[in-house]
Amino acid sequence: MLVRQRPRLLQDYSENSPSFLNETVLLLVFKSVNWNPFLLCRCACVCKRLAELAKQLLWKEFCLSRAPKMVNDLLSVARNESLDGGWDSLGKLMFFCAGCHSTRHFQSKRISGHFVWKARFSRTSGRSFLVPQCRMDTLYVTDPCEHSDDEDDDVGLFRGVIKAFSISRTRKMLEDMGAQVEKNEVCSFCRAEVWSLTQAQMIPSSAQRRLACCEDSLEYFICRNGHLHGMCSLVPLSDSEGLSEDEGS
Ligand SMILES: [Zn+2]
Ligand SMILES: [Zn+2]
Repeated sequence: MLVRQRPRLLQDYSENSPSFLNETVLLLVFKSVNWNPFLLCRCACVCKRLAELAKQLLWKEFCLSRAPKMVNDLLSVARNESLDGGWDSLGKLMFFCAGCHSTRHFQSKRISGHFVWKARFSRTSGRSFLVPQCRMDTLYVTDPCEHSDDEDDDVGLFRGVIKAFSISRTRKMLEDMGAQVEKNEVCSFCRAEVWSLTQAQMIPSSAQRRLACCEDSLEYFICRNGHLHGMCSLVPLSDSEGLSEDEGS
């Protein structure tokens, strides 16, 4: 008697034929599309096994391909080549401007998050965002992504990551002063709890100068995994101020 077999689904292959989803094959496929983040997201939605492979392997390669110097520096202190918060969170931080809303220390209309094709993370800029006692820490931060509204109020949004946050001076200082995590905010990249560095009074005046933002309009959060997400009201530039220095990364 002829037994009809149902077509095998990708999920069947993933569970029963691990060789089909051999890591080398996946790496070659995604390398050929330059670790396209849209395809990575789709791949991770296919099944649990692919989601896990994407988390452990593909997002790591994506991050290395986009910011090799920064990622190798983060990896230099990582245990077992894994990052706090995971590679998928760092990948999201690289290509996603998280938008903003009003917070305890910053008033703004709601701005939706959006995809960013290219981002530059600067360690030199990052120093400006740390209080002098914490400048031994390494913070990589982006230039502000500028959002204008109808009333010509320009909002600057920036994001970044602190190397080895769990053992950083910034984390120790937050703990020593008994800073509380924010009740109504979570990290836009890994959903972990966040501290407001504005609330903790850990925002140096150099950050305001670096961003060219209005006084008392600067707020940034840092999560338990070291991801930073910040917002400010930008001072409108006059023609003579249109060019800013570039310190490189
Ligand atoms: Zn943006
Ligand atoms: Zn986070």
